[in-house]
Amino acid sequence: MIDPLQFVRPDFDELEAYKPVLPLEELAREIGCAPGELAKLDANENLYGPAPSVLEAIANADHHIYPDPGSTGLREGLADYLGVGPGMIVCGAGSDDLIDILIRLCLPRAIAIAPPTFGMYSFLAKISRVGVIEASRKPDFSLDYDAIRTAVADGAKLVFLASPNNPTGNLCPDPEIRKLCELDALVVVDEAYAEFAGHSAVPLIREHPNLVVLRTFSKWAGLAGLRVGYSVADPGLSERMMAIKQPYNVNVAADVAARAALAHRGEVMESVRMLVAERDSIVERLAAFPYLHPYPSSSNFVLFRVEGRDAGSLAQALRRDGVLVRHYNTAALRGCIRISAGRPQDTDRLVDALARLENA
Ligand SMILES: *Cc1c(COP(=O)(O)O)cnc(C)c1O
Repeated sequence: MIDPLQFVRPDFDELEAYKPVLPLEELAREIGCAPGELAKLDANENLYGPAPSVLEAIANADHHIYPDPGSTGLREGLADYLGVGPGMIVCGAGSDDLIDILIRLCLPRAIAIAPPTFGMYSFLAKISRVGVIEASRKPDFSLDYDAIRTAVADGAKLVFLASPNNPTGNLCPDPEIRKLCELDALVVVDEAYAEFAGHSAVPLIREHPNLVVLRTFSKWAGLAGLRVGYSVADPGLSERMMAIKQPYNVNVAADVAARAALAHRGEVMESVRMLVAERDSIVERLAAFPYLHPYPSSSNFVLFRVEGRDAGSLAQALRRDGVLVRHYNTAALRGCIRISAGRPQDTDRLVDALARLENA
């Protein structure tokens, strides 16, 4: 018999599989409640879900026809939304797809990341046999410019920064992005949470053609399950990205949903405003629990440092009560939990669960 594993790349032997979030049904079964009863505050999703007009557009789409490989209509809608030319936009199956396309397009010796940050950059780099140089953030989670400059000098020709950063919640100010764009590298600013921050680096692309901005419909528009994101970049670079992407990477349902979200953005932004208000309310109400210390956030989640008790056990205890928050095991985030903003009833669940722990 031929061993099938002998054909697999040996450098994958040690690769840890990306740790996926458990399916909702499975989680609910484990906890012993209905999926709808969970306060799912662990993945920064928009718990209001897609707007009714978006759901209607999905229901009426031509699902039996292959999607447009050029995503023409969606790119025109995005051009109007952002005030750039459609030639500066490339769409993908979530912004994760664009991260992968950029890495495979450039295939640098290494990428630079600024941990603690989103895990997908290093995961996708490793899949493409690209090195990862960590330019760790300072204790206040601001960028360490010198560390990034050194990484670029060491061959990191792609720099990935999330702004607002996940899981720390802070924005990277424009002057810092400008300064990074003077480096001899492509600077990729991942703005998955831009609509919550009300700020974007897109206008900087004109003066800095080596700046790439990634955006997504996953968070603000409540379309995480449909997988649709996009990049905004120099037209020449965008054309090269278009040339290597999978032609049907944006499926028909995702395409019509994203276009409808843009067409009805006033309605969609209403849920964004409610989530931002709820984020502030979480910070305010959790001040009653003095062991929880929030970091400032420009996003739809808040990172808390847990002092005087174990953050992992706290997350576990909340989970047993049907409240899901994100806990980290990495050194830089030891003792931290990240809580996503949900609906007012989700915050109530969170506060009640914390109060019950207090009295236990
Ligand atoms: C959630 C998240 C994404 C995911 O984007 P998709 O469009 O769903 O692939 C990308 N970047 C950051 C920083 C995120 O937190």
